[in-house]
Amino acid sequence: MEKGSLLYTGKAKNVYTTDQAGILWVEYTNQATALNGKRKEQITNKGQLNSAISDLLFKYLTQQGIVNHYVEQISPVVQLVKQVTILPIEVVVRNYAAGHFVTKYNAPEMKHLVPSVHEFYFKDDALDDPFMNDEQIIALDIATEAELVIMRSEANRVNKLLSDIFKKIGITLIDFKLEFGYTAEQQLILADELSPDNMRLIDDVTGDSLDKDVFRKNLGDVTVGYQIVLDRLQKLFTEK
Ligand code: UDP
Repeated sequence: MEKGSLLYTGKAKNVYTTDQAGILWVEYTNQATALNGKRKEQITNKGQLNSAISDLLFKYLTQQGIVNHYVEQISPVVQLVKQVTILPIEVVVRNYAAGHFVTKYNAPEMKHLVPSVHEFYFKDDALDDPFMNDEQIIALDIATEAELVIMRSEANRVNKLLSDIFKKIGITLIDFKLEFGYTAEQQLILADELSPDNMRLIDDVTGDSLDKDVFRKNLGDVTVGYQIVLDRLQKLFTEK
């Protein structure tokens, strides 16, 4: 597999074409951002940890029947994925109150949310990725009602699978963000990455954050928590 030209530079990933039609080359970088990219830092080893965690979680979801863009990992920071056209919507699922949900609604921190809360955000850096309700999204032709139904239902299935897997390794999945895209065959599937950059994870024993909140809140070295997540997932999947 040959790496082609740079297609897209993300906040923590660079995406390239390859010599194989329909397959993209994703490189995880060490960059960490907060405040919608206004704060940026390089964190040694973060790319490698996120790549390894995302690899394990996508493989697990694939085994469990969640159709997604993931193909394989070909080096510590490089993954191959199916090319999809990403819908400009971020799907956030919340099991416990944290982050913006606390600041925006004055919700008690870590309140158990029943039912789980789904939110759609319009992916637009210039607008700071605003929250949008279903009617706003449909009326502005950002996505159709059918697409919202698929994304909600897939996000629910992913939430159940990931919450269960993390529970087994002593971690609570607080919230996470997903993105979806269209394949060449016009199937809307799960894409992007599954890592502690995009989810909140709390250690059930210590109560420590094992995710990007450590960077957002300046609590120390984020990679300590990411390594714990990776070690426990690896142990769980090799024991199976
Ligand atoms: N999230 C993300 N990218 C974003 C916004 C949120 O991956 O652009 C994730 C975030 O890591 C968390 C969840 O979505 O796991 C909910 O984030 P929230 O809306 O609370 O925003 P935050 O406080 O993280 O900025």
